Amino acid sequence: MSDQNNKIPANTAVETILTHGGREPNDHFGFVNTPVFRGSTVLFKTLADLDSQQQPYLYGRAGNPTTEGVESVVTALEGAHRTQLVPSGLAAITVALMSCLRSGDEVLISDSAYEPTRAFADGYLAKAGIKARYFDPRIGGGIAELIQANTRAIFVESPGSLTFEVQDLPAIAAAAHKHDIRVIVDNTWASPLFYKPLALGADIVVHSATKMFSGHSDTFGGTISTTEAAWKDVESTRRLLGFYTSGDEAFLLSRGLKTLAIRMREHEQRALDFASWLEQQEGVASVLHPALPSHPDHALWKRDFTGSGSLFSFVLPRGPRSALAAFVDDLRIFSMGYSWGGYESLCLPAKLVKNRTAVPWNSEGHLLRLHIGFEDLEDLKSDLADGLERYAKAR
Ligand SMILES: *Cc1c(COP(=O)(O)O)cnc(C)c1O
Repeated sequence: MSDQNNKIPANTAVETILTHGGREPNDHFGFVNTPVFRGSTVLFKTLADLDSQQQPYLYGRAGNPTTEGVESVVTALEGAHRTQLVPSGLAAITVALMSCLRSGDEVLISDSAYEPTRAFADGYLAKAGIKARYFDPRIGGGIAELIQANTRAIFVESPGSLTFEVQDLPAIAAAAHKHDIRVIVDNTWASPLFYKPLALGADIVVHSATKMFSGHSDTFGGTISTTEAAWKDVESTRRLLGFYTSGDEAFLLSRGLKTLAIRMREHEQRALDFASWLEQQEGVASVLHPALPSHPDHALWKRDFTGSGSLFSFVLPRGPRSALAAFVDDLRIFSMGYSWGGYESLCLPAKLVKNRTAVPWNSEGHLLRLHIGFEDLEDLKSDLADGLERYAKAR
């Protein structure tokens, strides 16, 4: 039981992994779901047990059957060696980065990465003597020219979750592996259903489980899945730092994961339908969704991904902030808030001033990020169409 983490047989179909993985009814009186384990102390019966440290659980901080159930499912989905559950997506990113880097090293980070990833690199890694340099998300194999003797990790988020550039992961990984550099991929957007970074050359895949894995905007979590070679560093970094994920949070994640496949496919269809419609609307400067043929990275997306997520952005032509307020403040069905991946649709205006350094973001208008949830699509369209009208009037 202690090694649930990689016990789902390889080649199990995704739907079967999601519905059967991580459950051990025989260990829990037949109850179909693994219950919430809460606990710090784990008892040893004898001195011999204490001395040998061989029992499945030694102390609650390292995990319990509820957390390991989630880990085993994500391991199987990603085709990984093992997975570590951590308290948030950001913790997954920080632990993954720290697992590869030490003082004097350098990390290359995609310019389109999630902003708190940059904040960690600039605000914490810098103090630890680790330098971050940002690269053009469309650099591809050109990354070879940025690699220096002290480059130890490359961080990719594909597509970037605000601006949606798709990165050429196989080319980046090929360049990295010539120098024994670890490649970390933030795969939150596509989920393992639609993108398999380890199969394309990544060493470490991170997720904000808060988003699609949970699916209900009611919990936090992060996962780090690795190749066999990268596992020890990740596991020991997590252990040394003392991160712990509660059984309560893990239970909500395991509950969300059961429906991940059907939710992802439904989100995919709805987001695509909405994005295609939005592209036709007057008063929209552009729509940034890699699965639309108009997207500059559409061919790359088609080559490497098997589907697309719920999230994309669009740009409104230039106008005063008051016009933007007229657009968002009176939306009836879309709401404004951070995070995404839940059942409810979100519309979030984003500022891209600070968080672009390698290739400045040149679009003049307002960038808005949409997450398409499960409301009626016609209701969502009419809500947004009214917003576009208000914006046009207020410009
Ligand atoms: C939300 C998000 C994160 C951070 O996850 P939290 O669970 O909120 O800490 C990381 N990467 C991406 C792409 C995200 O959208």
